Amino acid sequence: MIQSPDSPELQSLCDYLASLPDDGTWPEEALQRCADAGFFRWFVSTDGGFGWSSTDIAKGYLQLSAANLNVTFILTQRVAALRRIAGCQNESLKQRFLEPILCGKLTATVGISHLTTSRQHLGKPILSAVETKDGFQINGVTPWATGADGADWILMGGSIVDGLGNADGREILFVVATGNPNVNVKPGFDLIALSASQTGAVEANNVTVPHSNIVAGPIEQVLTGNGGGAGGLQTSVLALGVAKAAIDFIESESKNRDHLAPAQTALRQQHQSLLKDLFEATGGSTEVTAAEIRSQANSLALRATQSALVAAKGAGFVTGHPVGRWCREALFFLVWSCPHAVTQANLDEFAPCNV
Ligand SMILES: Cc1cc2nc3c(=O)[nH]c(=O)nc-3n(C[C@H](O)[C@H](O)[C@H](O)COP(=O)(O)OP(=O)(O)OC[C@H]3O[C@@H](n4cnc5c(N)ncnc54)[C@H](O)[C@@H]3O)c2cc1C
Repeated sequence: MIQSPDSPELQSLCDYLASLPDDGTWPEEALQRCADAGFFRWFVSTDGGFGWSSTDIAKGYLQLSAANLNVTFILTQRVAALRRIAGCQNESLKQRFLEPILCGKLTATVGISHLTTSRQHLGKPILSAVETKDGFQINGVTPWATGADGADWILMGGSIVDGLGNADGREILFVVATGNPNVNVKPGFDLIALSASQTGAVEANNVTVPHSNIVAGPIEQVLTGNGGGAGGLQTSVLALGVAKAAIDFIESESKNRDHLAPAQTALRQQHQSLLKDLFEATGGSTEVTAAEIRSQANSLALRATQSALVAAKGAGFVTGHPVGRWCREALFFLVWSCPHAVTQANLDEFAPCNV
């Protein structure tokens, strides 16, 4: 069991994750090993959890994501479901789900981004919930759910509509079984990175959700509060994990190539300074906002991985070299869980208006 971010057990798990081939296959065994090592217990302070602090969780995620972003990303989506369930008021649902998730016997992922960062311009809900006597009737699609095919349950977000399809602004979070015949888990997209995360859309066709499967709501802005919204600090840690892998690579190359040392030193300093801001923020400081940290982490992930490609030269451009994969993975942070403040800060950096 991994009891702290400094434990040798975490190091050996990371060594194993880093050794896995990047062959696009769903990492079933790796995910099970993480669960068996107590990974999900980091996030819960009662009911058999280890209750790690936010800073220790960030330290753990940093090591995991530097070793294997794909597995770590899938874990974050499962943790998103776990946190919502652990923090919910529905005690009987908590009883049914919590310990099975913590010990890795049951898996749940999330399809919630259409409530915050996806399909917001459409002006009408893409996953609607009509209130019935016994619960809710769900129809529509969640456009993004990571690893839904490999999960037993999906925690989804729906917008309450009346019989005519008019939304009233309230939302619910609920769980549906992937084995429900009215739930259609579509095949994962062919992505430019992380295709092995099996991320795809999930359709709901007249899915009946009883009150016993409601996690939160109906309420406006159901994602605010427990579990946080989009672009939280832990999304930044994953970007910094990829940056770390790239900077470590440049450092190892610079041992024989002196001219790479200044770039390595500069990137390492930026990484350490950003990590300091991040750990202060996870410790409660509000001096630097989560959006500022995330946009800078996105920038560093791109610059560090592309610097690593410069160092690896043509060899790094050949499929199979890890540097090429890190470059593609760094792009992911430009689109995943990015609230407007983050995308705007990244655009301002890439396309400055006052040059
Ligand atoms: C690999 C991956 C895994 C993910 N996993 C999950 C997950 O497990 N769970 C989860 O909940 N979410 C997940 N997400 C979703 C993610 O967090 C973001 O919500 C998503 O990337 C936002 O992109 P979108 O294409 O849906 O955005 P949208 O805003 O829906 O944009 C889609 C298209 O709509 C058009 N458009 C956008 N804005 C406007 C506008 N204002 N006016 C007119 N047209 C417009 C553009 O042509 C754009 O290409 C994942 C995303 C990725 C890429």
